[in-house]
Amino acid sequence: MSNKIYAPKGTNDILPENIPLWEKIENAAKDIAGRYGFKQIRTPEFESTNLFERGVGDTTDIVQKEMYTFTHRGKESLTLKPEGTAPVVRSFIENGMSSAAQPVKLFYLTNCFRCENPQKGRYRQFHQFGIEVFGAEDASSDAEVISVAYEFLKELGIKDVVAKVNSVGCPTCRKNYYEKLKAFISPKLDKLCDDCKNRFEKNPMRLIDCKVETCKEHIQGAPLMIDNLCTDCKDHFEKVKEYLDAMEVEYEVDPTIVRGLDYYTNTAFEFIPKDNTKSQAAIGAGGRYNGLVETLGGPKTAGIGLAMGIERILIQLEEQGITFPLENVTDLYIAPMGEAAKTTALKYATIMRREGFIVQTDVMNRSLKAQMKYADKINAKYVAMIGDEELEKGVLLVRDMQTKEQTEVAFGDLPGFLRK
Ligand code: AMP
Repeated sequence: MSNKIYAPKGTNDILPENIPLWEKIENAAKDIAGRYGFKQIRTPEFESTNLFERGVGDTTDIVQKEMYTFTHRGKESLTLKPEGTAPVVRSFIENGMSSAAQPVKLFYLTNCFRCENPQKGRYRQFHQFGIEVFGAEDASSDAEVISVAYEFLKELGIKDVVAKVNSVGCPTCRKNYYEKLKAFISPKLDKLCDDCKNRFEKNPMRLIDCKVETCKEHIQGAPLMIDNLCTDCKDHFEKVKEYLDAMEVEYEVDPTIVRGLDYYTNTAFEFIPKDNTKSQAAIGAGGRYNGLVETLGGPKTAGIGLAMGIERILIQLEEQGITFPLENVTDLYIAPMGEAAKTTALKYATIMRREGFIVQTDVMNRSLKAQMKYADKINAKYVAMIGDEELEKGVLLVRDMQTKEQTEVAFGDLPGFLRK
C-alpha cells in the first residue's frame, strides 16, 4: 500500500511556474480596484456559521449543501468562508464603518471553500476577487461596480465575455410579482424538481434559473420580474443601463439572472463567456443588496458587490490563448571556484540583493561547468565567476549569458554594469 498523501479532492496546488500568472491577475485586480478608489480588506478564513446562514441565505445551495462547517471544541459552529460578501459586511458592521465617509468601497482577494462536485472550473477551494460598495444607492454605483469587472477583464485581454444584467426589483414590487409567478407555477409544481419545490414558497424567483431541462420547459412563459418592476425600480434599471452605456460597458439584459432573497434589490448581473452556456461558466456575478447590512444586524445601508472567480479567469486566458511575457527570474548568478571564493560570493550576493538584484550563488559545491549549466537553466542574465585570480584582483569575470561576452568588472562597478 502506498503511503503517499494527496491533496484533497477539488483543491489545487499553485506551483511556482504558475505564480507569475496568478500575480498578474491579482495585480490587475488590485490596480483596477485602486483606480476606482477601492481599498483592500482581508477577513478571516472562517466565520460563525450563522453569518453565512443569514448572510448568504438558508435557501441557497451554498448554505444547504456546500459549506465546510465544524464545531469548535464542542461549542461554537464555524464555517470556512464559502464567499466573500458576508464576512465583509460583518466587518463593516463590527468596525463601525457606517460612520466613515460614505460610500465605503472595499475589495478583496480571497480563498473560498465550497463542498461541490469538482469539475473543470468548479473546485472545493477556489479564489475570488470581489468588491463591495456601502452607502451608495444611486444607479451610478451599480454601473461603476459592473464596470470594474468589465475593465478588469479588458485589462487582462479577455474578450467575448458579456455582462448580463437584470433587475430583481425590491421587496414591494417582488411581492406582487411572486403572486403572479406562483399562480403560473402552482398547476405545474408537482412536475418540477425537488429544489424547485423547496424554493417555491421561500424563494420562488430562483425557479426561473433552474438548470433542469424539464423544469426549464415548464417555466417557459412564466412572468418575469423585469416586466413587473415598480416605477422606482424601473427608473433605477433604466439609469443603470444609461450609465453603463456612458462607461462603454457592453451588456445584455437577461431576465433569467435572479437572486430572490429579501435583501437583494434592483441590479443583478453575471459575466458569461459568449460561446458558453454551461452553468459553471460564469466568470463573475454580483448585485445590489440593500437589505443585507440590516439582515446582519447593522444600520440600514445600501450595498452592492461583485465577485469574480480567478480560476474561471485562468480558463478564459487559456482558451483564448492569452499569455504574458514572464519576467527573467535571475539577474545574476555568482559562480565561485574554491572555498575562499565561496565566502566572497556569499558576501557579494548579499550586497547585490540589498541593491535590489535577484541573485543566486552556489550552495551545492558544484564544479564551474555544472554551475554554468545550472545558471543557464534558471535563466540567469549574467554569471559572475570568481576564482583565485579574481579574488586577488578584487574583480569578477562577468559573462553575459545571451551574447556570451565576458568582461572583467571590479565588484564596486557591478551594480552599474548590470543596470546599464
Ligand atoms: P457566486 O458567489 O456563486 O456567485 O460565485 C462568484 C464567482 O465565483 C462565480 O462566478 C465563479 O467565477 C466563482 N466560483 C463560484 N464557485 C466556484 C467554484 N466551486 N470553483 C471555482 N470558481 C467558483
